[in-house]
Amino acid sequence: MTQTRPTPVISLHDAAFGYADRAVLTGATLDVQQGEVLALLGPNGSGKSTLVRGLLGLNDHVGGQVELFGTRLEDFREHARLGYVPQRHTLSASVRATVNEIVAIGRLPHLRWWGRPTRADRAIIEESLELVGLADRAEADVSTLSGGQQRRVLIARALAAQPDVLVMDEPTAGVDEANQRVLSEVLARLAERGTTMLIVTHELEPLRDIVSRIVVVTSGRVSFDGSPERFAAERAALPALDHGHHHDDEPRPGSHRPATTPAAGPLDPAGGH
Ligand code: ADP
Repeated sequence: MTQTRPTPVISLHDAAFGYADRAVLTGATLDVQQGEVLALLGPNGSGKSTLVRGLLGLNDHVGGQVELFGTRLEDFREHARLGYVPQRHTLSASVRATVNEIVAIGRLPHLRWWGRPTRADRAIIEESLELVGLADRAEADVSTLSGGQQRRVLIARALAAQPDVLVMDEPTAGVDEANQRVLSEVLARLAERGTTMLIVTHELEPLRDIVSRIVVVTSGRVSFDGSPERFAAERAALPALDHGHHHDDEPRPGSHRPATTPAAGPLDPAGGH
Protein backbone atom coordinates (compact mmCIF):
# COMPACT_ATOMS: atom_id res chain seq x y z
CA MET A 1 0.00 0.00 0.00
CA THR A 2 1.36 3.41 -0.85
CA GLN A 3 1.52 5.91 1.92
CA THR A 4 -0.36 9.09 1.24
CA ARG A 5 0.49 12.25 3.08
CA PRO A 6 -2.16 13.01 5.69
CA THR A 7 -4.44 15.95 4.96
CA PRO A 8 -2.98 19.04 6.66
CA VAL A 9 -5.00 20.57 9.45
CA ILE A 10 -4.32 23.98 7.93
CA SER A 11 -3.08 24.58 4.41
CA LEU A 12 -2.22 27.97 2.96
CA HIS A 13 -1.06 28.54 -0.58
CA ASP A 14 -0.12 32.09 -1.49
CA ALA A 15 -2.80 33.18 0.95
CA ALA A 16 -3.62 36.76 1.83
CA PHE A 17 -5.64 38.00 4.78
CA GLY A 18 -6.87 41.43 5.61
CA TYR A 19 -9.74 43.77 6.28
CA ALA A 20 -12.24 45.09 3.74
CA ASP A 21 -10.09 46.28 0.84
CA ARG A 22 -6.70 46.07 2.58
CA ALA A 23 -4.46 42.98 2.56
CA VAL A 24 -2.39 42.87 5.75
CA LEU A 25 -0.64 39.54 5.26
CA THR A 26 0.22 38.30 1.78
CA GLY A 27 2.00 35.42 0.06
CA ALA A 28 1.61 32.98 2.97
CA THR A 29 2.30 29.37 2.00
CA LEU A 30 2.43 26.71 4.69
CA ASP A 31 0.91 23.39 5.77
CA VAL A 32 0.29 22.53 9.40
CA GLN A 33 0.11 18.80 10.11
CA GLN A 34 -1.70 17.13 12.98
CA GLY A 35 0.40 17.06 16.17
CA GLU A 36 2.54 20.07 15.26
CA VAL A 37 3.01 22.79 17.84
CA LEU A 38 3.60 25.88 15.82
CA ALA A 39 4.67 29.23 17.23
CA LEU A 40 3.71 32.20 15.12
CA LEU A 41 6.26 34.85 16.00
CA GLY A 42 6.64 38.43 14.92
CA PRO A 43 6.63 42.01 16.09
CA ASN A 44 3.51 43.91 17.00
CA GLY A 45 1.39 44.81 13.97
CA SER A 46 3.07 42.30 11.63
CA GLY A 47 -0.17 40.46 10.90
CA LYS A 48 -0.15 37.43 13.25
CA SER A 49 -3.62 38.01 14.67
CA THR A 50 -4.94 38.84 11.22
CA LEU A 51 -3.69 35.45 10.03
CA VAL A 52 -5.27 33.41 12.83
CA ARG A 53 -8.47 35.43 12.84
CA GLY A 54 -8.65 34.85 9.09
CA LEU A 55 -8.38 31.09 9.61
CA LEU A 56 -11.24 31.27 12.07
CA GLY A 57 -13.37 33.17 9.57
CA LEU A 58 -13.35 36.27 11.77
CA ASN A 59 -12.06 38.71 9.18
CA ASP A 60 -12.16 38.95 5.44
CA HIS A 61 -9.98 36.47 3.65
CA VAL A 62 -8.79 38.39 0.68
CA GLY A 63 -6.95 35.96 -1.54
CA GLY A 64 -5.05 32.80 -2.39
CA GLN A 65 -5.91 29.33 -1.23
CA VAL A 66 -6.84 28.47 2.36
CA GLU A 67 -7.97 25.02 3.43
CA LEU A 68 -8.95 23.64 6.82
CA PHE A 69 -8.92 19.85 7.14
CA GLY A 70 -8.90 19.62 3.36
CA THR A 71 -11.93 21.89 2.86
CA ARG A 72 -11.72 25.35 1.34
CA LEU A 73 -12.26 28.03 3.97
CA GLU A 74 -15.26 29.40 2.04
CA ASP A 75 -16.97 26.00 2.31
CA PHE A 76 -15.80 25.10 5.80
CA ARG A 77 -18.63 24.73 8.31
CA GLU A 78 -17.00 22.77 11.17
CA HIS A 79 -15.61 25.63 13.17
CA ALA A 80 -15.93 23.67 16.42
CA ARG A 81 -12.87 21.73 15.21
CA LEU A 82 -10.81 24.86 15.87
CA GLY A 83 -10.53 25.92 19.50
CA TYR A 84 -9.70 29.59 19.95
CA VAL A 85 -8.32 31.51 22.90
CA PRO A 86 -8.39 35.17 21.89
CA GLN A 87 -5.73 37.75 22.68
CA ARG A 88 -5.58 39.50 26.08
CA HIS A 89 -8.86 37.94 26.97
CA THR A 90 -10.05 37.92 30.53
CA LEU A 91 -13.59 37.68 31.80
CA SER A 92 -15.46 40.80 32.77
CA ALA A 93 -15.57 41.48 36.50
CA SER A 94 -19.35 41.66 36.16
CA VAL A 95 -19.63 38.05 34.96
CA ARG A 96 -21.35 36.05 37.67
CA ALA A 97 -20.60 32.47 36.80
CA THR A 98 -18.62 29.61 38.21
CA VAL A 99 -15.52 28.27 36.52
CA ASN A 100 -17.51 25.12 35.68
CA GLU A 101 -20.24 27.12 33.98
CA ILE A 102 -17.76 29.02 31.79
CA VAL A 103 -16.00 25.81 30.73
CA ALA A 104 -19.40 24.17 30.04
CA ILE A 105 -19.97 26.83 27.34
CA GLY A 106 -17.26 25.01 25.39
CA ARG A 107 -19.50 21.94 25.20
CA LEU A 108 -22.39 23.85 23.61
CA PRO A 109 -21.54 22.91 20.00
CA HIS A 110 -21.83 19.26 21.03
CA LEU A 111 -25.01 19.31 23.10
CA ARG A 112 -28.19 17.91 21.64
CA TRP A 113 -30.93 20.38 21.02
CA TRP A 114 -32.64 19.53 24.30
CA GLY A 115 -29.47 20.87 25.76
CA ARG A 116 -28.67 19.03 28.97
CA PRO A 117 -25.03 18.08 29.44
CA THR A 118 -24.66 14.34 29.72
CA ARG A 119 -22.40 12.54 32.15
CA ALA A 120 -19.86 12.30 29.31
CA ASP A 121 -20.03 16.08 28.80
CA ARG A 122 -19.42 16.64 32.49
CA ALA A 123 -16.44 14.28 32.43
CA ILE A 124 -14.95 16.23 29.50
CA ILE A 125 -15.47 19.52 31.36
CA GLU A 126 -13.76 18.08 34.43
CA GLU A 127 -10.86 16.73 32.38
CA SER A 128 -10.41 20.11 30.68
CA LEU A 129 -10.19 21.81 34.07
CA GLU A 130 -7.71 19.20 35.28
CA LEU A 131 -5.53 19.85 32.23
CA VAL A 132 -5.25 23.53 33.10
CA GLY A 133 -4.76 22.81 36.81
CA LEU A 134 -8.02 24.35 37.97
CA ALA A 135 -10.07 21.29 38.93
CA ASP A 136 -10.10 22.46 42.55
CA ARG A 137 -11.58 25.84 41.52
CA ALA A 138 -14.52 24.42 39.55
CA GLU A 139 -17.13 25.98 41.84
CA ALA A 140 -15.30 29.29 42.30
CA ASP A 141 -16.81 32.50 40.96
CA VAL A 142 -14.65 33.39 37.93
CA SER A 143 -14.43 37.01 39.04
CA THR A 144 -12.36 35.88 42.04
CA LEU A 145 -9.61 34.45 39.80
CA SER A 146 -6.47 36.27 38.69
CA GLY A 147 -5.88 37.22 35.05
CA GLY A 148 -3.57 34.24 34.55
CA GLN A 149 -6.11 31.84 36.05
CA GLN A 150 -8.87 33.28 33.87
CA ARG A 151 -6.66 32.69 30.84
CA ARG A 152 -6.50 29.03 31.93
CA VAL A 153 -10.31 28.91 32.31
CA LEU A 154 -10.59 30.12 28.71
CA ILE A 155 -8.11 27.48 27.55
CA ALA A 156 -10.24 24.88 29.38
CA ARG A 157 -13.36 26.25 27.69
CA ALA A 158 -11.69 25.80 24.29
CA LEU A 159 -10.51 22.29 25.24
CA ALA A 160 -14.02 21.27 26.36
CA ALA A 161 -15.10 21.47 22.72
CA GLN A 162 -12.46 18.80 21.99
CA PRO A 163 -11.09 20.72 19.02
CA ASP A 164 -8.67 19.16 16.55
CA VAL A 165 -6.48 22.23 16.74
CA LEU A 166 -6.09 24.81 19.45
CA VAL A 167 -5.38 28.35 18.27
CA MET A 168 -4.11 30.70 20.96
CA ASP A 169 -3.33 34.37 20.57
CA GLU A 170 -0.57 35.42 23.01
CA PRO A 171 -1.49 32.94 25.75
CA THR A 172 1.44 33.91 27.97
CA ALA A 173 1.42 37.68 27.38
CA GLY A 174 0.42 40.11 30.07
CA VAL A 175 0.62 37.69 33.00
CA ASP A 176 3.26 37.68 35.70
CA GLU A 177 6.22 35.33 35.55
CA ALA A 178 4.80 32.75 37.95
CA ASN A 179 1.60 32.43 35.96
CA GLN A 180 3.59 32.43 32.76
CA ARG A 181 5.40 29.33 34.05
CA VAL A 182 2.07 27.70 34.90
CA LEU A 183 0.71 28.45 31.44
CA SER A 184 3.88 27.00 29.89
CA GLU A 185 3.33 23.82 31.93
CA VAL A 186 -0.27 23.63 30.74
CA LEU A 187 0.81 24.01 27.11
CA ALA A 188 3.60 21.44 27.59
CA ARG A 189 1.05 18.96 28.92
CA LEU A 190 -1.19 19.56 25.91
CA ALA A 191 1.80 19.13 23.57
CA GLU A 192 2.63 15.82 25.26
CA ARG A 193 -0.91 14.62 24.57
CA GLY A 194 -0.40 15.38 20.88
CA THR A 195 -2.67 18.43 20.75
CA THR A 196 -2.10 20.38 17.54
CA MET A 197 -1.48 23.99 18.51
CA LEU A 198 -1.02 27.24 16.70
CA ILE A 199 0.33 29.71 19.21
CA VAL A 200 0.68 33.39 18.39
CA THR A 201 3.38 34.87 20.56
CA HIS A 202 5.96 37.61 20.58
CA GLU A 203 7.98 35.86 23.28
CA LEU A 204 9.36 32.46 22.42
CA GLU A 205 11.14 31.91 25.72
CA PRO A 206 8.19 30.48 27.75
CA LEU A 207 7.40 28.10 24.89
CA ARG A 208 10.93 27.15 23.87
CA ASP A 209 10.67 23.48 24.91
CA ILE A 210 7.14 23.04 23.60
CA VAL A 211 7.12 24.23 20.02
CA SER A 212 8.07 21.92 17.16
CA ARG A 213 8.08 24.61 14.49
CA ILE A 214 8.43 28.35 14.24
CA VAL A 215 6.88 30.62 11.65
CA VAL A 216 7.93 34.26 11.72
CA VAL A 217 5.75 36.99 10.26
CA THR A 218 7.33 40.37 9.63
CA SER A 219 5.63 43.24 7.83
CA GLY A 220 2.85 41.05 6.48
CA ARG A 221 5.10 38.32 5.03
CA VAL A 222 6.25 34.92 6.30
CA SER A 223 9.98 35.56 6.73
CA PHE A 224 10.97 32.27 8.37
CA ASP A 225 9.47 28.78 8.62
CA GLY A 226 11.47 26.01 10.25
CA SER A 227 12.54 24.07 13.31
CA PRO A 228 13.42 25.75 16.61
CA GLU A 229 17.03 24.63 16.01
CA ARG A 230 17.21 26.33 12.65
CA PHE A 231 15.51 29.39 14.12
CA ALA A 232 18.16 29.59 16.84
CA ALA A 233 20.91 29.37 14.23
CA GLU A 234 19.37 31.96 11.92
CA ARG A 235 17.82 34.31 14.44
CA ALA A 236 20.56 36.89 14.28
CA ALA A 237 19.88 37.41 10.58
CA LEU A 238 16.11 37.89 11.08
CA PRO A 239 14.46 41.27 11.59
CA ALA A 240 13.98 42.34 15.23
CA LEU A 241 11.14 40.45 16.89
CA ASP A 242 10.87 42.00 20.30
CA HIS A 243 8.47 44.52 21.66
CA GLY A 244 7.32 45.39 25.13
CA HIS A 245 4.53 43.82 27.13
CA HIS A 246 2.82 44.49 30.41
CA HIS A 247 1.07 42.47 33.08
CA ASP A 248 -2.64 41.77 33.49
CA ASP A 249 -2.26 40.02 36.79
CA GLU A 250 -2.75 42.97 39.08
CA PRO A 251 -6.17 42.78 40.76
CA ARG A 252 -8.74 44.60 38.68
CA PRO A 253 -11.17 47.09 40.19
CA GLY A 254 -14.40 45.35 41.10
CA SER A 255 -12.87 41.89 41.30
CA HIS A 256 -13.63 40.12 44.52
CA ARG A 257 -10.42 38.40 45.31
CA PRO A 258 -10.73 36.45 48.54
CA ALA A 259 -8.31 37.37 51.32
CA THR A 260 -7.26 33.75 51.55
CA THR A 261 -7.11 31.41 48.60
CA PRO A 262 -8.52 27.92 49.14
CA ALA A 263 -6.08 25.03 48.85
CA ALA A 264 -4.12 25.84 45.71
CA GLY A 265 -3.56 23.10 43.15
CA PRO A 266 -0.07 21.83 42.42
CA LEU A 267 0.15 24.18 39.46
CA ASP A 268 -0.68 27.29 41.41
CA PRO A 269 2.39 29.27 42.31
CA ALA A 270 1.98 31.19 45.54
CA GLY A 271 -1.73 30.45 45.80
CA GLY A 272 -2.47 31.24 42.18
CA HIS A 273 -1.61 34.91 41.77
P1 ADP B 1 -0.11 41.34 15.24
O1 ADP B 1 -1.10 40.32 15.70
O2 ADP B 1 1.08 40.75 14.56
O3 ADP B 1 0.28 42.30 16.33
P2 ADP B 1 -2.33 42.39 13.70
O4 ADP B 1 -2.71 41.27 12.82
O5 ADP B 1 -3.15 42.66 14.92
O6 ADP B 1 -0.79 42.23 14.10
O7 ADP B 1 -2.29 43.73 12.86
C1 ADP B 1 -1.71 43.82 11.58
C2 ADP B 1 -2.22 45.06 10.87
O8 ADP B 1 -3.61 44.93 10.66
C3 ADP B 1 -2.00 46.35 11.63
O9 ADP B 1 -1.59 47.34 10.71
C4 ADP B 1 -3.37 46.66 12.17
O10 ADP B 1 -3.54 48.05 12.27
C5 ADP B 1 -4.29 46.08 11.12
N1 ADP B 1 -5.58 45.68 11.73
C6 ADP B 1 -5.74 44.88 12.80
N2 ADP B 1 -7.06 44.71 13.08
C7 ADP B 1 -7.74 45.44 12.15
C8 ADP B 1 -9.14 45.69 11.88
N3 ADP B 1 -10.09 45.14 12.63
N4 ADP B 1 -9.43 46.49 10.83
C9 ADP B 1 -8.48 47.05 10.05
N5 ADP B 1 -7.15 46.85 10.24
C10 ADP B 1 -6.77 46.07 11.27
